[in-house]
Amino acid sequence: MVAVLMLSGAIAAAPTPAGSPHQVVLISLDGYRWDYLDRPAARRLRELAARGVRAERLVPSFPSKTFPNHYTLVTGLHPEHHGIAANVMRDSVLGRFATGNDPAVRDARWFSGEPIWVTAQRQGLRTAAYFWPGSEAPVGGMHPTWYYPFDLTTTRATRVQRVLEWLALPDSAAPRLIAVYFSDVDTEGHNHGPDSPETDAAIAAVDSAVGAIVDGIAHLGSADRVDVIVVADHGMAAVNSARTIVLDDYLAMDSVEMGDWSPVATIIPKAGRTEYVMRALTGAHPHLQVYRKGELPARLHYNSGAHVTPVVAIADEGWSIVRRATLGQYVAGRTYGAHGYDNALPSMGALFVAAGPDFRRGVTVPPFANIHVYSLLAELLRVQPAHTDGSVDSVRVLLR
Ligand code: AMP
Ligand code: ZN
Ligand code: ZN
Repeated sequence: MVAVLMLSGAIAAAPTPAGSPHQVVLISLDGYRWDYLDRPAARRLRELAARGVRAERLVPSFPSKTFPNHYTLVTGLHPEHHGIAANVMRDSVLGRFATGNDPAVRDARWFSGEPIWVTAQRQGLRTAAYFWPGSEAPVGGMHPTWYYPFDLTTTRATRVQRVLEWLALPDSAAPRLIAVYFSDVDTEGHNHGPDSPETDAAIAAVDSAVGAIVDGIAHLGSADRVDVIVVADHGMAAVNSARTIVLDDYLAMDSVEMGDWSPVATIIPKAGRTEYVMRALTGAHPHLQVYRKGELPARLHYNSGAHVTPVVAIADEGWSIVRRATLGQYVAGRTYGAHGYDNALPSMGALFVAAGPDFRRGVTVPPFANIHVYSLLAELLRVQPAHTDGSVDSVRVLLR
């Protein structure tokens, strides 16, 4: 099924700059760990990196989950500052947020900060997104100029073709920023683990999609005016059923409400139950670290904001937090994949590759944090950025 094209009402007048302005294509490969780039299946991405830049790895924000990090990439804010602090959240006014909950992902009240498409459109540019967390909500009163309701069944080819149609529009009508999202690598990483042949096949599939976009740009004669940036939201760690922390073995579950479960449990104790929850979980399991809000390590940037829960429990790398009733879902001896862990872990590191007229060529730069990607996009689009947690100076090393 092909998604219905949504054209938002908020089209500003296009500017009339001298010469052809550069366009930016931002590609997200969900769960594409930084080191996948050196696997045989990543041929086209390596070619792109060879004529552009790659980061040793892109450091995600904590928690290293999909919605928090995609929204960080486009706002430059830590999850504690942009409202999307987890994939699953509860709010006394807004109710429950979950990535599969259509009304919630379309409700702008969950989303703070200023997505790059809002920044760009307020300054007269057009933008387009073929799926991006946040793009379905009218944040700041607007969607991207073109956007689609999320639909997993939309093929990679359909997405690629639409990106190339946008790029083929005349300057006076074309989006200057195009964002597109592919989830294949994350899905196979979860189901079969990061080192599986299935994950390699997904790496090959998205590699072809990136290659098709790059070839399409060349075919349009636009290679010298389109910057291509390929990012991931986080990496992937191997997990298995032998490393599970059964939360309800330690905690009376009727004393809490849960947001995310694993590998970071975001816990809202019921009234008066915070002390009990802290006592119950502190030291309960050698591979579970438990924190009260305000007392997490400062480097995690996860202590403020309405949607950071009063208690946060973080599993060590490779461990999962589960409830006893769902333990049977994991086949003994089989490897799966998970992310969400401490964002400093190399296994949580994400892909960053970029090439085009504004990028240096054949350079690998040290790891940098994904809060700076918004500033990079604003610089490439020549728009005045909003105030964020990142800075363009942190990523200038990428630019010519
Ligand atoms: P995670 O649970 O963190 O691994 O999230 C990955 C999943 O998020 C993907 O497989 C998609 O099903 C889902 N997802 C990604 N983007 C969106 C979106 N824009 N709207 C709703 N769900 C999404
Ligand atoms: Zn993800
Ligand atoms: Zn995932």
